[in-house]
Amino acid sequence: MKILIIEDEPSLREIMTEYLRKQRYVVESADSLKDAMFKTADYEYDCILLDIMLPDGNGLELLRKLYRTGKSGNVIIISAKDTVDDKVEGLELGADDYLAKPFHLAELNARIRSVIRRKDHDGDSAVSFGNVRVDTSSYSVTVAGSPIELNRKEYDILAFFINRPNHLVDKMNLAEAVWGDHMDQVDNFDFLYAQMKNLRKKMNDAGADVEIKANYRLGYKLVAK
Ligand code: CA
Repeated sequence: MKILIIEDEPSLREIMTEYLRKQRYVVESADSLKDAMFKTADYEYDCILLDIMLPDGNGLELLRKLYRTGKSGNVIIISAKDTVDDKVEGLELGADDYLAKPFHLAELNARIRSVIRRKDHDGDSAVSFGNVRVDTSSYSVTVAGSPIELNRKEYDILAFFINRPNHLVDKMNLAEAVWGDHMDQVDNFDFLYAQMKNLRKKMNDAGADVEIKANYRLGYKLVAK
């Protein structure tokens, strides 16, 4: 799960980044409206944390842009300016939630989880395909009811695919979702092939009736066997 933090105050941005990385998210950040506009145009995020007062403009401008493209549903507004007007406008523009500063990091995490659950699983924290079940609240995976042990990246890859069954995913999109935005600058994808190989083997050994099929030119797809 990848999160974009849009926040100009360095210390808050760092605290949030560090905390959310510990919660197993891939975290990217932007410190200005301009940077946030670029990032949201170029990359996909599971949740966007949006500060309102930015040095080069108002965060609601970004929200308006996302709203026009139907992409404002996973935004949590984070604002020190706890005014009713901003809150109402933000929610009308499709923002999913509004959190006033200062806030507890645990509260932030709870709100993020709720946004992601609504977006990906219609409110349920577990999602299944075939006999494979991924529970995003406990980061656990079962195959035919028996738990299997995955490392963190293997889990992240499987969680990404189980939300997109029968959907072809290009390896760049997969790499950006699991490793981060800088993946568009890597020379090769050996790290991805290695994790994918291990994950596929573990799923197969556990008796999964679904598999992540590779097509080296087009990408990967989670399909029934
Ligand atoms: Ca600010």
